[in-house]
Amino acid sequence: MMDKSQLAKKILLNVRYLCMTKYPYLAPSLQALTIWGELPKSAPVQTVAVTKDWIVLYNSDFVLEMAGATNFSDIRSENLTNLEFILLHELHHVLRNHHVRTIALGDVVEEIALVASDCEVNSSLCSIFSHHPDGIVRPKDFSLPDFHSYEFYYEQLLNHLRLQRGRRGRGQGQQQEGSGQQQGETLHEGRCRCGGGSGAGKTPAWEKEVSLPPGVSEARAEAIRQETARRILEWEQKRQGSVPSDLIRWAEQYLQPRVDWRSLLRVAVVTATASHRLGKADYTYRRPSRRTDWYSQPVIVRPGMVEPEASVAVVIDTSGSISDNELAQALSELRAILQEVGSVVVISCDAAVNLVTKIFSVEELRGRVKGGGGTDMREGVKAALSLKPTPNVVIVLTDGYTDFPSPSEIPSSVEVVWGILGRDVMDVLRMVGEVKQVGFRNVVPIPVKGGD
Ligand SMILES: [Zn+2]
Repeated sequence: MMDKSQLAKKILLNVRYLCMTKYPYLAPSLQALTIWGELPKSAPVQTVAVTKDWIVLYNSDFVLEMAGATNFSDIRSENLTNLEFILLHELHHVLRNHHVRTIALGDVVEEIALVASDCEVNSSLCSIFSHHPDGIVRPKDFSLPDFHSYEFYYEQLLNHLRLQRGRRGRGQGQQQEGSGQQQGETLHEGRCRCGGGSGAGKTPAWEKEVSLPPGVSEARAEAIRQETARRILEWEQKRQGSVPSDLIRWAEQYLQPRVDWRSLLRVAVVTATASHRLGKADYTYRRPSRRTDWYSQPVIVRPGMVEPEASVAVVIDTSGSISDNELAQALSELRAILQEVGSVVVISCDAAVNLVTKIFSVEELRGRVKGGGGTDMREGVKAALSLKPTPNVVIVLTDGYTDFPSPSEIPSSVEVVWGILGRDVMDVLRMVGEVKQVGFRNVVPIPVKGGD
């Protein structure tokens, strides 16, 4: 006979499957959730929680009660709606990256962050569920509008609490400043505790008591989010109105690369091809600033003359100094480049080139981008220049901690574009300046969100 915990796990796996059939656009992300095991007894709320690595922990009594089942044959899919809501709730926390967004908020009042992240999730889910589990927090509990961001709710709730405290302070004379814990308790009586994957921002102590599998790394999570965002927009295009509006907005924002590759590539391709056709072109014509309004300049070559003959090579820095988030961002930029030119040759490079491959979609790189050693982007650029045919544009995505080739070694028919990745905006801008000092004109900053 199956024990309680095994039965609860089986129920949750069933729930996950039901969600995948009902919301196919969420399938890749639901698939990535690991339904693992029991919450430790020390967890303050014995329901369901998710870690930042997409691992779901549960209290089996709670799961069985929600499902109204004591053995497997009792399970009826119509009784699993509340658990569907709950599992999707946990998924939304990791999909929307509440863990990293909490870190980005800085020094947060944890209890308010937990409520705010739940507000973002629940307002979205309540728009697709006609019933929802009892006791969940919603923006309307605090007279706040639905479909806003976690950050918006956090700010509003913080103000709300300050006001409350001010009033109470005046009414009762001397008032001690409450700890974050006490402040939050007045908001939700401790109901919101979804684990380190939610607005907690750090791994709660009780999570460390369970031995957990590795789960989903931040780089893989980024790939899953990209894929999910893409599917959401595709799904919505086919069946208008079936995806919650805030989720569509999330997907649109998510897929937005940091760099406007369309205009940048247009200028680079035109420049490279123009100098090729003109022979020894004047430097100012060969390398216009990307801010130049190409159409208003009295130049000889117009973009229409060369499109769509762009052949592009992308060198990706995979050295040890590149963080998971930086790599994920590089892949996001690569996706945007592919949207413009259809196919590119990717060269992954640390101290030496370790992969040269032509791709049509980023997914083709899955599991193939390796590295982790020192850095020498000169090797990557050299490999790009030796391709047959020679590309018009070579884009290098790097954190900039590398030696640079000399611009005089680059043939005039090739434009090299440097994309400088980094978490610290000031660092990135300083590095952009350095690359320009070397003599390259096309250097773009690519700030990367989130931690290392
Ligand atoms: Zn939650």
